[in-house]
Amino acid sequence: MKFNTALLHTSSSSDKYGSTQPPIYQVSAFSHESAEKLEKVFENKASGFAYTRIGNPTVDAFEKKIAALEGGIAAVACSSGMAAVTMALLNILRSGDEVIAGAGLFGGTIDLFGDLAAFGITARFVDTVTAESVSELINEHTRAVFTELIGNPKLDVVDMKSVAEVCHRNGIPLIIDSTTATPYLVHPFEYGADIVIHSTSKYINGGGNSISGVIIDSGNFRWDREKYPGLAEYSKLGKFAYAAKLRNGIWRNVGACLSPLNAYMNMVGMETLGLRMDRICGNALRLAEFLGSLDGLTVNYPALPSSPYSPLAQSELGGRGGGILTVRAGSKARAFSLINSLKYALIATNIGDIRTLVIHPASTIYLHSDEKRREQAGVYDDTIRVSVGIEDIDDLTEDFGNAWKKAKEN
Ligand SMILES: *Cc1c(COP(=O)(O)O)cnc(C)c1O
Repeated sequence: MKFNTALLHTSSSSDKYGSTQPPIYQVSAFSHESAEKLEKVFENKASGFAYTRIGNPTVDAFEKKIAALEGGIAAVACSSGMAAVTMALLNILRSGDEVIAGAGLFGGTIDLFGDLAAFGITARFVDTVTAESVSELINEHTRAVFTELIGNPKLDVVDMKSVAEVCHRNGIPLIIDSTTATPYLVHPFEYGADIVIHSTSKYINGGGNSISGVIIDSGNFRWDREKYPGLAEYSKLGKFAYAAKLRNGIWRNVGACLSPLNAYMNMVGMETLGLRMDRICGNALRLAEFLGSLDGLTVNYPALPSSPYSPLAQSELGGRGGGILTVRAGSKARAFSLINSLKYALIATNIGDIRTLVIHPASTIYLHSDEKRREQAGVYDDTIRVSVGIEDIDDLTEDFGNAWKKAKEN
């Protein structure tokens, strides 16, 4: 099966009516015919569901679908992308451990690492995640390398093969936040990533109607018992150890579960992921080229030859650059004026919607970061982030062209 066929025909629901989507099991609990049966469900000795925080059939259908799409062995759905990032890390980390992370990460993830410091977990940031920069920071406390495949909003692309090689030589996993790349552009497991997370609020859902996240396990990483003592008791589950620990441990105990309705909305949205990404990537490239041709604007888009990451966009992303571009307008006043003069793009803090969205990251998402952190993330006072939608490209280029004409006068 190719991509679009797989989106429609993997793990379809099979209820007795032949419904084409899984039913929405919008319940908290599931009743059972006997105390013995419920005991077995709790012991994981019988299939079935007990309580939606621990498992739900609609959420299960979503997890199976996205695990298949990424080529993983198991997926655990979460209440948000941030919950997925947090749970993916806390499943393996303890006080005293270190994580190496890209400085260009999503603002929320950077802030999370600040919170984790109170629990004795240290993040060591590198400007760009490369085999060399990671090697330099690995020590006996390092337990994971965490990075976004296409940084939001820095738009740097990670060479996963070489980074995964360094990680594996040192016995640590490579965890990839693949939100901005999506399974349409790349399957990170094929490049050596061990765990993939998505904020499915974005491109997977596609309609901007539900907050959610997911953690997918490749099943390939061999967890050393001494480095990861928490996983030792799950080692009898073999390649399912990480996912089983997550599901039976921190994820269920924190209560990071996804609601059945949001899982359903994601299932519906996902079916058009290929169509949307095809259109979005095409629009983004055309808009990037157009903005680059305007006097006074500097455009950053991974698939443009001017991006230092265009060779990686070629080799890892099939020459496509995803749906996000950033543009520098010369000053904050010009950036604001350009944003305010757009007719179609909505001013909103989100990405991966079918509508084009714009934001001034320095005054919003990076409001609480100092200048150094901001610039490491590719965010300057005059930077605008554009999450390109599926509108007709001629309307978008005309709109941005007219808005820049007005903004330039500032
Ligand atoms: C949005 C986003 C997140 C956080 O996801 P939420 O669903 O908003 O919690 C994490 N990583 C990246 C790359 C994102 O764009």
